[in-house]
Amino acid sequence: NKQFTLKSRPHGAPTVDNFALQSIPLPELKQGEVLLRTIYLSLDPYMRGRMSDAKSYAEPVAIGEVMVGATVCQIEQSTNDKFAVGDWVLAYTGWQEYAISNGEGLMLLGKEPTNPSYALGIMGMPGFTAYMGLLDIGAPKAGETVVVAAATGPVGATVGQIAKLKGCKVVGVAGGSEKCQYAVEKLGFDACIDHHSDDFAKQLTDACDSGIDVYYENVGGKVFDAVLPLLNTAARVPLCGLVSQYNATSLPDGPDRMSMLMGQILAKRIKMQGFIIFDDYGHRYDEFATEMQKWLSEGKIQYREHLVDGFENTITAFNDMLSGKNFGKTVVQVNQP
Ligand code: NDP
Repeated sequence: NKQFTLKSRPHGAPTVDNFALQSIPLPELKQGEVLLRTIYLSLDPYMRGRMSDAKSYAEPVAIGEVMVGATVCQIEQSTNDKFAVGDWVLAYTGWQEYAISNGEGLMLLGKEPTNPSYALGIMGMPGFTAYMGLLDIGAPKAGETVVVAAATGPVGATVGQIAKLKGCKVVGVAGGSEKCQYAVEKLGFDACIDHHSDDFAKQLTDACDSGIDVYYENVGGKVFDAVLPLLNTAARVPLCGLVSQYNATSLPDGPDRMSMLMGQILAKRIKMQGFIIFDDYGHRYDEFATEMQKWLSEGKIQYREHLVDGFENTITAFNDMLSGKNFGKTVVQVNQP
């Protein structure tokens, strides 16, 4: 069983030296256990936080432990009545080719699910995050302007498309012209601005000619700097992620802008709220799943995966995702079904 364990804590972007690729023999199954064969491994921005021992909402991965992560697996052997050989399950077995489980926490996806990997993306954690953050905290109303960055990733693309379904004007922010073109042409956004452009802030201002009512925050940094002056009175800011900061080793230089930020929040009565999807909304997963399944089957939501072939490419794929070299939801094909 090949697995990536955490060897040391990254300083800045993770490197191959922070991980060990080891191969260990699989133990015999005990009664009630199943052997899981990983088909798809999800790579998500939150994993960068788990590599670090800074205090956060979840425990870090210990040095020497297998890196965590959601997976879609097939049952290879079973001594558990609830799971038969060949069944597909959603699991949380991390960066490894095989795992043994007593069945706890596994979600059955059936014998021949259509698009099993969707359980890691549009039908899973990222889709659920987009749905709850936008609708519960952002509370968009028809005719309002919604802005979202990382606009072609699994969270951002879903936020923008749901906002369109709710009758909003949607302006995306993405890295590069190909992604921006996709957001407008395939996802139906009204505009999408390339944050690599020199005049990014001006382009965003021009695109948001009625200001911004909902800013779904995925990235922070210079995108938030450009958004802040455009927020309308009573704007809502679901604070979902700050991916531009995840590899940062210190606070950014420069004048302290905290009092300016607080002044804006006060004067414009802005509501900014962080959330951690399963802690805050786990009890509403079924509501999301029913509605998203319907939208997908009606062709109202588009979904794009960035499938990386080969378990050995996991670390590169993870860094590519954090730095925007992905185009869609990053999933590693660990084994063939
Ligand atoms: P993505 O697959 O979209 O990957 C991250 C993207 O962020 C990159 O592809 C890149 O896109 C963009 N990015 C990276 N650096 C910068 C930068 N400096 N400025 C602007 N954009 C940048 O990720 P997800 O859709 O999986 O996640 C989106 C966000 O949602 C993350 O912040 C994540 O942590 C958060 N999240 C939060 C959850 C919660 O419970 N609060 C749950 C799930 C996700 P581009 O090339 O377009 O710039």
